[in-house]
Amino acid sequence: QKQVLLFQEGDASMKTLLGGKGANLAEMTRAGLPVPPGFTITTEACLTFFKVGNKISDELLDQISAALKELEKQKGQLFGEATNPLLVSVRSGSVSSMPGMMDTILNLGLNDLTVQGLAALTSNETFAYDCYRRLMQMFGNVVLGIESYHFEQLLHRLKEEEGAEHDQDMSAVGWKLLVEDYKKCIVAKTGRAFPQDVYEQLRMAIEAVFKSWNNPRAQIYRKINRIPDDQGTAVNIQSMVFGNKGGNCGTGVVFTRNPSTGENTFFGEYLINAQGEDVVAGIRTPLAIAALKEEMPEIYEQLFAASKQLEKHYKDMQDIEFTVENNKLYLLQTRNGKRNAQAALKIAVDLVHEGLLSKQEAIGRIEVSHLDQLLHRGIDEEAIKDVLAKGLPASPGAAVGQLVFDADTAAEWNRAGKTVILARNETTPEDIHGVIASEGILTSRGGMTSHAAVVARGMGKPCVCGCEEVRIMLDDKQMTAGGRIMEEGDWITLDGATGRVILGAMPLREAKMTDELLIILNWADEIRTLKVYANADNPEDAKIARLLGAQGIGLCRTEHMFFSPTRLPVVQQMILADTKEKRMQALAQLLPMQQSDFEGMFEEMNGLPVTIRLLDPPLHEFLPNLEDLQKRHIQLTYELDGTDSEREETADLLRKVQALHETNPMLGQRGCRLGIVFPEIYDMQIEAIFRAASKCMNKGIRVIPEIMIPLVGHVNELKVLRELVDFVAEQVLGNDKFRECPYKVGTMIEVPRAALTARQIVAYADFFSFGTNDLTQMTYGYSRDDAEGKFLTHYVDRKLLPHNPFQVLDTEGVGQLIEIAVNGGRSIKPSLKTGICGEHGGDKESIFFCHLTGLDYVSCSPFRIPLARIAAAQAFI
Ligand code: ADP
Ligand code: MG
Ligand code: MG
Repeated sequence: QKQVLLFQEGDASMKTLLGGKGANLAEMTRAGLPVPPGFTITTEACLTFFKVGNKISDELLDQISAALKELEKQKGQLFGEATNPLLVSVRSGSVSSMPGMMDTILNLGLNDLTVQGLAALTSNETFAYDCYRRLMQMFGNVVLGIESYHFEQLLHRLKEEEGAEHDQDMSAVGWKLLVEDYKKCIVAKTGRAFPQDVYEQLRMAIEAVFKSWNNPRAQIYRKINRIPDDQGTAVNIQSMVFGNKGGNCGTGVVFTRNPSTGENTFFGEYLINAQGEDVVAGIRTPLAIAALKEEMPEIYEQLFAASKQLEKHYKDMQDIEFTVENNKLYLLQTRNGKRNAQAALKIAVDLVHEGLLSKQEAIGRIEVSHLDQLLHRGIDEEAIKDVLAKGLPASPGAAVGQLVFDADTAAEWNRAGKTVILARNETTPEDIHGVIASEGILTSRGGMTSHAAVVARGMGKPCVCGCEEVRIMLDDKQMTAGGRIMEEGDWITLDGATGRVILGAMPLREAKMTDELLIILNWADEIRTLKVYANADNPEDAKIARLLGAQGIGLCRTEHMFFSPTRLPVVQQMILADTKEKRMQALAQLLPMQQSDFEGMFEEMNGLPVTIRLLDPPLHEFLPNLEDLQKRHIQLTYELDGTDSEREETADLLRKVQALHETNPMLGQRGCRLGIVFPEIYDMQIEAIFRAASKCMNKGIRVIPEIMIPLVGHVNELKVLRELVDFVAEQVLGNDKFRECPYKVGTMIEVPRAALTARQIVAYADFFSFGTNDLTQMTYGYSRDDAEGKFLTHYVDRKLLPHNPFQVLDTEGVGQLIEIAVNGGRSIKPSLKTGICGEHGGDKESIFFCHLTGLDYVSCSPFRIPLARIAAAQAFI
C-alpha cells in the first residue's frame, strides 16, 4: 500500500489522505507554481503508526527512502552528503486546518559535516551556522521535548556577549559558539547527543510530528472546533529554500483579501533575510506587504499574480506562505484563509458578484456558528485586561453591568435606572423578573441547557453559566472569582460567546445587520424550503422575530406571561383557591391580562401563524419555595414572632404548597394533565385567545392562532381538550367569525408514547410540534436539570456520547421517534403540519435533520433566526 506520495503525484481532492497542506502543495505543484519539491507521508501511515504502538514500520521506512531518492534526483543533491547536502523541512499537515497546533522542523539534514559543506557551497558561513542552530533548537524542542526557553536563554546570553542587538547581527563565530552551547544543553537535558546521523534525524522528526497529533493543545483545539480525533496527521517532507541567506531573500505571509474586513485588497507581512516562523514569532517587526512593491517589485508582481491565480483556482480567499531565496519566489503553503464573520459574508457576496461562486456555493460556505458574533454586541478586545473566570458560553453577546446576587435587587436597581448583571448559583423560574431586569446572567452551576441558559438565549441576553470558579456567597452579597472578592454593585462584563467573566466595564461595539448579511439572507430565502418560526412569549420579542425574518411564532409559552410581579400573586390565588368559585375569580382577573398579551402578539404577527401553548409547567413552580415556607413556619411557631393571623396564614399556605408538592414534578401534574384536571384554567386561556382574535379581526388584522396542547401521551387527552378548544372558539367567536378564523389545534410531541401512537393522535391534531427538550429528556431518561452537572459532561468528554443531546439533536434515537411520528401522522392525514420548537430548532445540525425528515418548519429564539434561515438553505443544497 502506498503511504508516501511525491507532490507531483497528488492533488487537492486527496485532502483526507494528504492533509490540507500536502494536498494543496500537490495541487500547486500541478498548476506549475514554484513549489520546492517534496513528498507527503499519508494520514493512513500516521494511523498505522498509532495502531502498532507508535512505531514506523519497515515498509514505511522503505517507501520514505525511495521518495527521498526521487527528491535527491530532482534537486541534484544528496541527503547527508558533505559537499552538496539536501536539506528538508518536516511539516505536519492535518485534514482540517489547525494553524500552529502541531509542529514543524526546518533545515533537517544538517550535521557537523554537512554544515561545513553548506557553508562552502554558499560561501556564507554565517548563514550555514544560523541554519544549524535553528535546526537544533526546533529539533530539541519538537523532537526531544526540551522547553524553548532553555535555548532562548542561551541565545540571549550569547547575543549580549557578542554585542549583537538583532539575530542578523550575529557572526559565524557567534553561531558556532551557540551550536556548541545547544549541543551541551541537549546532552544535559536528555542524556544523549544531538543525532549526527541525518536518517535518524528524519525518522525521529517524523515520529515527533505523528505524535504531535496528540499533544494537549492540538487536542483542545480539536475539541473546541469539533474536529474528529481519529483523522491523524500527514507529514510533508520538503526540500528547503532559504529566506535567511541575505538581503535578496526573505519570507512572509499574504492574504488575497483582508481577513478582518473582507475588502478585496492584498494584505500581508514579510521580513527580509529571515526564515520560517520569524514573521509570526515577533522577533523583528515585519513590514506591510505594500513595502515589498518598492523593495522587490518583480517578486511582488509574481506573488500578486500567483495569489490571484490561487484565489480563482480555489474560489476562495487564500492565506499564502512564501519565501524568496536569491530573488526567486517560492510558495510554501496555501489554504482558505481564516476570517471573521463580517469578512466571511463580504467575501462570499463579492465572490458571487465577481462570478466566481454561485449563490448556492456562497451560502454553503457560511459558517453559521460565526453569525453569533455579528448579531450580538461584542467587547472591544483591546480593552480587556483582567479575565476573572471562564464558564460555559451559554448565550452569546456582551453584557456590562453592576453585580447583583438576587432577582429582587436586580429588578429594583433596574427600575432605579442602573444596569445590572445577575449572578446566581443557578436560576429558577422565580428569578425571571431578575433575568428580565438584567443585562446578562452569570451562574456558577448548570449547563448549556440549564434554566438560565435557555431563558437567556430566548431573550437574546448574554449568559455565562456553569462557571465553577465563581463562588457566590448570597448572605454576604459577595462573590469570589479569580482570587478576588467582588461586592454587590461592582462592575463586571460578561462575554457570552466565549464564557469569559471580565473585571470592570468594558467598552462595547454595537451589533448590526450589515448589507452583506441582508443579501446572504435573501439568497438563503430563495433557496430554502424549510420555514423558520420564532419562539416568542411577548409582543416585543415577536416584533424582533419578525424583523429578523420569522415566518410565524412556533412557540408562545403562556406561563412566561404569568411570571410578572403584578400577575404572580393572582396566579398564586388561582392555584391555591379552596373552591372552584375562588379559582374562577382569580381566573377572571387573569383573563384580560392574557387577552392583551395575545392581542399584542397577533398584531405583530399580522397574517402569520401564532402557535400558543397552553399552560405547561407543574403548578408549584409558581408557588413560594417549600423549604423557605417551612423555615418561616418553624420560626413563627417556636420563636413566637409574628402575629396569630400570620401564623395561621403561613400554616395554611404551607399545607397547600405541601399538598401540591411532587417528588418528580417533571413527570407529574403538568401540561395537558393540568388542563384535564382543572379545565377552567385552559378554558380561560382559550377564551383569552379567541377574544383577542375576535378583537383583532375587527381591526382588520389577519389572525392565525394555532393552539398547542402540551405533553399529550394518549389520544384521549387530546380528544377531550380539542373538544374544549372547538367549543370555546365557537362560543367566543360566534358563527360568522368561527368560519372565518383559520385556527388550528395541535399537540406538542414530547412524550415518546405520543410519537409511537401518532396515527391515533393525528385524528385530533392539525399539527405536530416536536418539543425536543422534553422528548430528549424522556427518550434518554435524563433529567435535563441534573444530567449536565452530574454525568453528561463526563459522558461527552469520554466520548460515550458524540454531543450533549440537549444541544444537538440525537438523530438516532430521538430522531427516530420524530420520523415515526411524522410518517405515521402524514400517512393518515397528508395535510398535517409539522415543526420543531425545542432548543434544537436553532442548531445547525438539528436543522439539517429537520429538513431531511420533511418537517415544515423549525422554531428558535429570535436571535437565532438568521442562523436558522441560512442553515435551512444549506440543508437544501
Ligand atoms: P504551520 O502549519 O505551523 O504554518 P509550516 O509547516 O507551514 O507550519 O511551517 C512553518 C514555516 O516554516 C513556513 O511558513 C515556512 O516559512 C517555513 N518552511 C516550511 N517548510 C519550508 C521549506 N521547505 N523551505 C523553507 N521554509 C520552509
Ligand atoms: Mg504554515
Ligand atoms: Mg415540554
